[in-house]
Amino acid sequence: MSESLVTVSYIGATILFILSLGGLSHPETSLRGNLYGMIGMTLAVLATIFGPRVTMAGIPWIIGAMVVGGGIGLYAARVVKMTQMPELVALMHSLVGLAACLVGYANYVDPAASAQLVGAEKSIHEIEIYIGILIGAITFSGSIIAFGKLSGKIGGKPLLLPARHWMNLLGLLIVIYFGWHFLHAETVSAGMIGLTVMTVIALLFGIHMVMAIGGADMPVVVSMLNSYSGWAAAATGFMLSNDLLIVTGALVGSSGAILSYIMCKAMARNFFSVIAGGFGTGGGTVVAASGDAQPAGEVVAISAPETAELLREARNVIIVPGYGMAVAQAQHTVCEITKYLREKGVNVRFGIHPVAGRMPGHMNVLLAEAKVPYDIVFEMDELNADFPDTDVAMVIGANDIVNPSAQDDPNSPIAGMPVLEVWKAKTSIVMKRSMASGYAGVDNPLFYKENNRMLFGDAKKMLDEVFVALKS
Ligand code: NDP
Repeated sequence: MSESLVTVSYIGATILFILSLGGLSHPETSLRGNLYGMIGMTLAVLATIFGPRVTMAGIPWIIGAMVVGGGIGLYAARVVKMTQMPELVALMHSLVGLAACLVGYANYVDPAASAQLVGAEKSIHEIEIYIGILIGAITFSGSIIAFGKLSGKIGGKPLLLPARHWMNLLGLLIVIYFGWHFLHAETVSAGMIGLTVMTVIALLFGIHMVMAIGGADMPVVVSMLNSYSGWAAAATGFMLSNDLLIVTGALVGSSGAILSYIMCKAMARNFFSVIAGGFGTGGGTVVAASGDAQPAGEVVAISAPETAELLREARNVIIVPGYGMAVAQAQHTVCEITKYLREKGVNVRFGIHPVAGRMPGHMNVLLAEAKVPYDIVFEMDELNADFPDTDVAMVIGANDIVNPSAQDDPNSPIAGMPVLEVWKAKTSIVMKRSMASGYAGVDNPLFYKENNRMLFGDAKKMLDEVFVALKS
């Protein structure tokens, strides 16, 4: 394949990636978006393999690596549960970071890569390598820790070392010093000293940064690491002089950064205080058992037939799904109940909080999978004003996202986080198994409100019972 054909293919792939991102912004167009992305990536890979920069001798190696990598990816994608998706994504980001590091080292030790470079060009190439490995190493170790935290292998409690900000600052100064050392190295082996010291510091920084972050901030961190992985890929593109990798990396990097910003806004968190860490325990603690956060009152339990009765009498119902719905895999029953109620003339809508569940868009994906019509699924802001005119607000396995203390208690760890105001409905029903707290580990005063009822049990089991009672 000639260089110009490769360039045309790369431009085509870039356009497809942009169309893919556009498509993924709405559930109705997301399938098409995915398809564009797949075609774009196939085009990009084929143009790279058959382009002039890969020799015939290299092709079997590439195909071998693709079969192994593709096989592992296919297996992982098939066995991963929806609730494990954020862990898988974190693990994938770590691979991008690792790839950026390995390409950086390979590029530095490969005499052919910089043979013709002198003066400023050589320095720029070395800066690309240094920065590429730096971002790659932070992404790699940070993502591994994020994977550990999200999968519960590492506790969600933030690790706050004394003088941690000073330690980070010291690390940064050492990285800058060794960067200077690296750029002035006479030989490759002399340069390796600076590169290795920087890599070790970057790896430690990645571990330290994510260890210091509490459970409730993990979504922002995963999206931030997504952004880092994009920048690491862009840096790799600069090292390899591959325009497509630069553009693709920049697309991932900037979309991840925008998503982090949107999520920070949704959680009322300042981006820098997220990085500074220390918020949320990450565990679902039983509030009654934890010393300083005692339940603040009595709760009124409700049975499945009583819930069905309330739903039958309602004109307006808003369903607020959360992480528990994903755990219980209750979305299909939710869809059946919705269908039944709508047939009876009840106005049923869904309210989705931007950080409901354990990954951005988690609830939208589940509801789409269960074939809930898109036009009754609303963002939090589109629906929040409607709760006072709602007869029943049904909260299914959600907790933090419907916690009124975010608005009422300035001392709450989630103070300022926008929440769905379900307590303003005539009756709110919270469906969960116990009085345990949600991801942020804080008590929820909603449970004790006069107009609130608790339907205790596994969401799928309870909804099945509600559905049977509704039909009878
Ligand atoms: P929460 O984690 O606040 O609450 C979920 C509730 O579901 C728990 O209190 C739990 O109570 C209940 N539950 C668990 N299993 C079941 C089950 N089988 N049946 C019924 N209920 C069940 O979830 P939310 O969706 O309200 O809020 C999301 C939280 O997660 C936020 O704090 C957010 O910051 C954080 N987060 C969000 C991410 C994202 O990108 N969306 C990623 C990572 C974290 P019980 O044990 O009593 O049943």
